[in-house]
Amino acid sequence: MARIFVVANQKGGVGKTTTTVNLAAALASLGQRVLLVDLDPQGNATMGCGIDKRALVRSVYHVLIGLCDIEEAALRSPQGGFTVLPANRDLAGAEVELVDFEERETRLREALAQVEPQYDVVLIDCPPSLSMLTLNGFCAAHGVIIPMQCEYYALEGLSDLVNTIKKVHANFNTRLKVIGLLRVMFDPRMTLSQQVSDQLTQHFGDKVFQTVIPRNVRLAEAPSYGVPGVVFDAQSKGARAYVEFARELLERIRSLPDA
Ligand code: ADP
Ligand code: MG
Repeated sequence: MARIFVVANQKGGVGKTTTTVNLAAALASLGQRVLLVDLDPQGNATMGCGIDKRALVRSVYHVLIGLCDIEEAALRSPQGGFTVLPANRDLAGAEVELVDFEERETRLREALAQVEPQYDVVLIDCPPSLSMLTLNGFCAAHGVIIPMQCEYYALEGLSDLVNTIKKVHANFNTRLKVIGLLRVMFDPRMTLSQQVSDQLTQHFGDKVFQTVIPRNVRLAEAPSYGVPGVVFDAQSKGARAYVEFARELLERIRSLPDA
């Protein structure tokens, strides 16, 4: 069965989408069958995978509301080598519409159960909030990957996130755990980056992934071409770091108990 990971951090602009898209492409390049679920109405992951969010007939919105199955809405990333359950602005309405459903926090989990055998890894990109959409991500997942920028305020808010994960674990999803914290947009020339990074490892120990994703302009350029950075410039430092991270994650998955 697939391992399901949610990439979450309630802050915006911390590298969630970049991590989800590039990790998906990196895992695919290592032979994994990957499904990326875009849970953000901004649809940035969808666009970054080379799928036009304005042209969607069906999307994750339709799946959550029960209008179609994942198979009917999923599309192939033209150059990514993986499958995408895309999103666009329609998804913003789901928050309100889901209020009428019973067990509204497990809609995604129910939908994923149908397609799980077809994938090795499912990656869920979350919006920058702890909303009903993010809650659906948490309820569907085995683990959370938390991308973090090593900035002064990075640790602020982390306890809210960890508390939310604990609550979800207690109330909805006992299999949920923090898989690890990923340092992204890292700038080794900045003393502050190094200091915060040290604090992070002191605090969270081996929950911090060893791989560090550097700040790399090729990763930032790739989305405008609709190609994951890992494919766009495979030799760039950023791309190579994400492939290394994919290897480390697979290693970590192996040590997890069976789902
Ligand atoms: P989030 O999904 O958390 O809002 P994004 O992944 O969209 O964050 O990243 C925010 C911005 O930072 C984007 O413009 C993205 O291209 C850029 N970015 C992310 N990671 C890197 C990186 N490692 N190096 C350079 N730019 C990055
Ligand atoms: Mg995003």
